[in-house]
Amino acid sequence: MTSVTFYGGVGEIGGNKILVEDKGTRIFLDFGMSFKAEKTFYSPPFLSPKSGNALIELGILPKVDGLYEFDDSKASVDAVFISHAHLDHYGHVSMLKREIPIYCGETTRTIIEASAMTRQSNFESDLEGIQWKTFRTGKKMNVDSIQVEPIHVDHSVPGAYGFLVHTSSGTIVYTGDFRMHGPRKDMSEEFVEKAAETDPIAILTEGTNLTGAEISSEAEVSDKLSRLVKATKGIVLAEFSKSDTDRLTSFYSAVKSGSRSLAISMRQAYVLKALEKDPKLKLPRLSDKNLLVFRRAKKKYYPWEKEVMNEANVIDSVKLSKLQNETVLVTSLADFEELIEIKPASGSCYVLSASEPFNEEMEIDFDKLMSWLAHYGIVQYHIHVSGHIMPLQLREALQKIEAKKIYPIHNEHPELFAKFVSGMKSEVVVAEKGMNYKL
Ligand SMILES: [Zn+2]
Ligand SMILES: [Zn+2]
Repeated sequence: MTSVTFYGGVGEIGGNKILVEDKGTRIFLDFGMSFKAEKTFYSPPFLSPKSGNALIELGILPKVDGLYEFDDSKASVDAVFISHAHLDHYGHVSMLKREIPIYCGETTRTIIEASAMTRQSNFESDLEGIQWKTFRTGKKMNVDSIQVEPIHVDHSVPGAYGFLVHTSSGTIVYTGDFRMHGPRKDMSEEFVEKAAETDPIAILTEGTNLTGAEISSEAEVSDKLSRLVKATKGIVLAEFSKSDTDRLTSFYSAVKSGSRSLAISMRQAYVLKALEKDPKLKLPRLSDKNLLVFRRAKKKYYPWEKEVMNEANVIDSVKLSKLQNETVLVTSLADFEELIEIKPASGSCYVLSASEPFNEEMEIDFDKLMSWLAHYGIVQYHIHVSGHIMPLQLREALQKIEAKKIYPIHNEHPELFAKFVSGMKSEVVVAEKGMNYKL
C-alpha cells in the first residue's frame, strides 16, 4: 500500500512537505518553509517565531509525532529528500530529529551550509548535527521498500533535482522546481524522458507560472543586461537572488562586455567561494578581476566576512562613488543607506532582476525602494525570467510523462491547472493540505 500526504505546497507557491508512505517506509520529499503561513502570523525581526511548538500550534509545521528534534518520541520518518537549495524546499530541516538522514545533492548541501553561515543563527537556521547524505544525478538510493532516483533539472539555483520515487505500487514522479528556458534545459529534458520511461502511477508537479507567464530565456536576459549596462551613464544598481548563479553569470558577462566590474555582497561572495570547489559549475572565481566585493561600513566584521575580504578585491562606498561608470553594484534595500556616501550620478539605473514583489528568496518593500530611487533620480528596469517552467511546456511534459494521476503542487491556482491539463489520459487530483491519498 502506497500513499502521499501533502503537509505543505498545495494551493501555495512553496512550503513543500510531502510524505510518501510505502509498506511502512516513510519518507518526506522536501521540508520547506511556507512563507505564506509564516507571514500570516509573524513579521520579523520584531515578531519572529521562538519555538517549534509555536509553529505547530499555528499550523505552520505539521503535527506529526516522531518528526521533530524537540519531541521526545522515537523517529517516525526514515529519510527526507531535499530537491534544491531554496528555503521554500529546505527551510525547516533544522527542526527535524537528527537521527533522520537528510539526502540532497552535493551543491545543495554546499549552498545550504554556506547560506546558514551568513545568517543570524536562531532555532530556524540551526543545522548542527544534521546527518547529510549527498548524491549526484542518477544515483539510486534505497530506503527500505522505497528507492529514490534523483535526476538533475534546470532551475534558478544550481544543483536542483527532480525525483523518481520507485515504490512497491509503481513510480511517483516529483518535479521539484524546474524550467525549460534556462542554460541547462537539456537536464530538464532528460528528467522528463526518464520520468516517462517509468510509466508512473503519479506525478507531483509544480505549476508556478499559470498566470503572467512570458516567453523568454536566460540567454535573452543576459543580452538585455549587456545592452543596459553599456548604455548607462552612472552607476547600475542590481538586485537578484544570491544563489541564482545563472543570473550572476548573466550579470558577469554584461559587465565584461560593458567594461565594468560587478560588485557583489559579502553574503553572495561567501556562497560563490563555497561553490568554487565544483569546477563543473563554471562560475567566475572570487579573485577574478571583474569581480569586486562590496564592504558595507560597520564597526566589526564576522569571521566569514574576513575570510571573504582576504580573498577578494574589496570596494567600499567611498571608492565606489568615484567609480560609478565602471561598476554594477548588486544590492538590496537593506544596503540603501550606502547610497548617501555613493551619491549616485545623474543617469543611474536600478535593475530589478527578480520576480516582483516577492519570490522564493527575498521580499522587497516596494514603497521604500521607490522612495530611495526617487530621492536620487534613479530609474528602474525589470529584467528577469522565471526559474519555473511555462504553462505550455509543462502541458507538453505532462503529456509525454503520462502519469496515471497528476497532483498539482507549488501553485496558487490548482483548479485552473486541473482544467488546463484536462483531456489527457491522466486524472488530475486537486489535493488538500493534510489529507492522505492512496495510490
Ligand atoms: Zn519552490
Ligand atoms: Zn526553487
